[in-house]
Amino acid sequence: MSNPYDLQVLNPATEEVIATVPGATAADVDAAVVRATAAQRTWAALAPADRARLLRRFAATVDQHIEELARLEVTEAGHLIGNARWEAGNVRDLLDYAAGGVERLNGRQIPVPGGLDITILEPLGVVGVIAPWNFPLPIAAWGTAPALAAGNAVLLKPAETTPLTALRLAELGLEAGLPEGLFQVLPGAGDIAGEALVEHPGVAKIVFTGSTRVGKRIMAKCADRVKRVTLELGGKSPNIVFADADIEAAATAAPMSFLDNSGQDCCARTRILVQASVYDRFLDLLAPGITSVVVGDPADEKTQMGPLISRAQLDRVRSYLADDQPAIRGTAPDGPGFWCAPTVLTGLAPDAPAAREEVFGPVAVVLPFTDEDDAVRLANATDYGLAASIWTRDVGRALRLSKAVAAGNLSVNSHSSVRYWTPFGGYKQSGLGRELGPDALTAFTETKNVFLSTEA
Ligand code: NAD
Repeated sequence: MSNPYDLQVLNPATEEVIATVPGATAADVDAAVVRATAAQRTWAALAPADRARLLRRFAATVDQHIEELARLEVTEAGHLIGNARWEAGNVRDLLDYAAGGVERLNGRQIPVPGGLDITILEPLGVVGVIAPWNFPLPIAAWGTAPALAAGNAVLLKPAETTPLTALRLAELGLEAGLPEGLFQVLPGAGDIAGEALVEHPGVAKIVFTGSTRVGKRIMAKCADRVKRVTLELGGKSPNIVFADADIEAAATAAPMSFLDNSGQDCCARTRILVQASVYDRFLDLLAPGITSVVVGDPADEKTQMGPLISRAQLDRVRSYLADDQPAIRGTAPDGPGFWCAPTVLTGLAPDAPAAREEVFGPVAVVLPFTDEDDAVRLANATDYGLAASIWTRDVGRALRLSKAVAAGNLSVNSHSSVRYWTPFGGYKQSGLGRELGPDALTAFTETKNVFLSTEA
């Protein structure tokens, strides 16, 4: 590498270097903040309808480049082509949804004696979005789209391994007519570009998605300046299967609930809790769904699971897989690429590392439980609280469990967690704040209260 700040981008399916991207330094971050601050003033002064129109044009420009963005996502992140097309489409939808909020970002009028009281929602200024590598396109847009819609400028720092789609997105924003400097991408190392963004006094808020370890560090640094922060962190989400559920349906849905994106998903249902009376039957039904998964070239439409993102991630995942553990194991290609076979571990203690820690790979554990109380106890026996699934035909039980499980995103007889029009975020150490949904724009504003006396 010519420059110590350069980032080498690899294709995780082949290990070939596909690009070398200059990494941003602290001085680059300083310069970007100056440009963003100026652009934000212009942007916030535009009529709401004009800002909305530009965001819709941005969405339309993304729409014209879905295939290109999807191919980039396949090449740099190893995502399946079908998933990558959905992810690029998700960016378009997020921009459209946020554009719809620009003209509806209403304050309130509150009855008070002696005058009129109104609240005004003002943009924060410059927002820093720090994105991970697991869903580079959608997660970049989760922060960026509502922040722009609420009148802010955005500095996006993508993960070291996946800067290419973010850089292309910024080009498309300019092509669509966004003001120069309003949405900039700063690829670079977390401890250089990321920290510079977090520490910069000109950045009003940090939206971070990634590991709990780094999230805590960012939160501590933000505390120094009382900087606003939203954290989307890890998970170890339970998939709770009761004996009264449709066991065939639960077993059929379970594999992709933790194998999608090769398990590199903060909502992956990696702790499968099964009522003891149907435990053996569930495992029998689960096994063919694991061993038959087609793992290979992510650009091939027939592939069901691609590689992991990097050698480091592969080593991390393998560290959880001891040879003596009873397991259901699928297959994976040999040779170049960061391949790991789909794996289900059984017979582990509930507090074993693989049952407790976020593996972030295609690995799940199956644990038995006795009754409803035991299921809740096991489900909540983790520092995380991002998502959970509950499989039962009993509506009362579904509602009781939905209340009792301490997680931000619950699904009943399904594994759906994330829709751009519903709120998303974690309990406990899975995060802080909510993204997406009807209140997404408000998270990028300050509320100002103004009292006008009628008695002066
Ligand atoms: P990470 O937390 O190290 O990185 C996420 C982002 O933060 C990247 O853009 C990175 O450059 C940046 N970053 C790193 N250190 C920083 C710092 N000191 N200051 C500011 N920004 C910094 O995550 P990772 O290394 O990509 O993955 C490690 C683990 O994190 C995974 O195995 C997984 O458990 C978890 N993870 C969770 C999610 C999620 O969606 N919740 C996403 C990615 C990773």
